[in-house]
Amino acid sequence: MEFGLLKSQVKSKFVLESLCKILPTRDRLSERGIDIDTQCPLCDEEVETPVHALRDCRIASEVLSIAHLALVPLASQYSSVQAWLPDRFRHLSKESFSILLMLLWAIWRNRNSQVWDEVSQSAAVIVPITLGWWEEFRSAHVSSHAPRQPILQKWKKPSAGFVKLNVDASFNLASRRAGLGGVFRDSQGVKEACSRHLVPLIVESDCLNIVQALHSNSLDNSVLGYLIGDLRQLLLTAFAASLIHVRRSANGVAHILARDAGVNHPAFEFLSVAPPFVEAAISFDCTIN
Ligand SMILES: [Zn+2]
Repeated sequence: MEFGLLKSQVKSKFVLESLCKILPTRDRLSERGIDIDTQCPLCDEEVETPVHALRDCRIASEVLSIAHLALVPLASQYSSVQAWLPDRFRHLSKESFSILLMLLWAIWRNRNSQVWDEVSQSAAVIVPITLGWWEEFRSAHVSSHAPRQPILQKWKKPSAGFVKLNVDASFNLASRRAGLGGVFRDSQGVKEACSRHLVPLIVESDCLNIVQALHSNSLDNSVLGYLIGDLRQLLLTAFAASLIHVRRSANGVAHILARDAGVNHPAFEFLSVAPPFVEAAISFDCTIN
C-alpha cells in the first residue's frame, strides 16, 4: 500500500508540475537565464519543450503509440501539454488516462536518466515496466474481491509450424485515404514467416464486426455482403485458416502500418527489415511472451 501511495503522490505532483508550466525542460531553464544547450538530450534534433519531451520526441511518441493513448484525435492538433492532456482526459477512460499519466512520468524519468546517467531505455522496455508499476498500484487500491481484467492484451506468437497474420485498416477523414496494414509472423519472427509457405494460417483482427460477420453462416444482406462472401471463401481455401478477434493492443503492428498507409505512403512491403516507425511495436510484441 505504501508503494502504491508513493506512486500516486509522485504521479499527482508530476502532473501538477506539467500543468503549472514548471517542468524544468531545457527551453524553460534557458528562459530563466540559465546558460544551457536547449536541444533535446535524447534526440538532439529539436529544442526541448514540455510537449516535445513528453509526447513528440521519438521514444515518447513510440511509448504512446504502443500503448494506443495518443492517437485520436491526432496529437499534433495540440501544441502544448496544457491543451493536449485535457483532451486526452475527455477522450480516454479513467483507467486509460491514469495509465497515460504514469507513462508520461516514466517518459520524463527516462529523460532524466539520459541527462544524469547518460542511459536511456527503448519504448519496448519502458511500456511493459510501467504497466507493471500500474498493476502494482492498482492491486494495492482495488478490492481483492473485484474481478481482475487484463489492462493490455498482448500479441502472442503462434505455435511452431503456424504462421499468424495480423491485419488492420484505417481511414483518414482529412485526406480521404484508406490504409491497409498486415504482418506475417511465425514463432521465430517476421523474417522466418516470410520465407516459408504461409500455412497453417491464423488471422487476427481487432475489428469485431468483421470477425463476427465472417464467422456467421447466415447470408449477409449488407452492402458489404459480396465482399464478406468472398472473404469467407478465401478463409475456407486457406489451409487450416482460423480467424480470431483480438484487442487493438494485441494488433499494434498492423494498426500502426494501416494508420501510416492512410497518411504517408504508397503501397510497400517489407521482408526481414521492418520500417523504423514500426520497430518499437514489433519489439514490444516480443517482450514477455
Ligand atoms: Zn527529442
